[in-house]
Amino acid sequence: MIESPSAAALLPPDWRPPSWMNRAACKGRTDLFFAPRAERPPARVRREAAARRVCEGCPVMVDCRDYAHQHTEYGLWAGESEDDRSDQGVPVPAPTSRHRTRTPSAATA
Ligand code: SF4
Repeated sequence: MIESPSAAALLPPDWRPPSWMNRAACKGRTDLFFAPRAERPPARVRREAAARRVCEGCPVMVDCRDYAHQHTEYGLWAGESEDDRSDQGVPVPAPTSRHRTRTPSAATA
């Protein structure tokens, strides 16, 4: 699941993938599961829909969902976006697109 050089650079040096990741249907598809910089909302909707199609029927969906919930992950895991996890009360690493609030100065500018 996490095989891109940029994603790997964010991991602790001693991190090792759990064994279930070897059976992930998304192996090699990191681009679909993590937003590129400055992704526009319509592109995000399309990318996440494509990612969810990969998740459908994935043999490790339960492991994947549990991992994402336990590790406060970015991106789409087990068909759940950061917004989906936040809606369930799961901590997310940063404000998500639906939950981001405007600062007073931005609202009046
Ligand atoms: S459920 Fe989806 S995100 Fe999780 S391992 Fe499977 S394909 Fe990847």
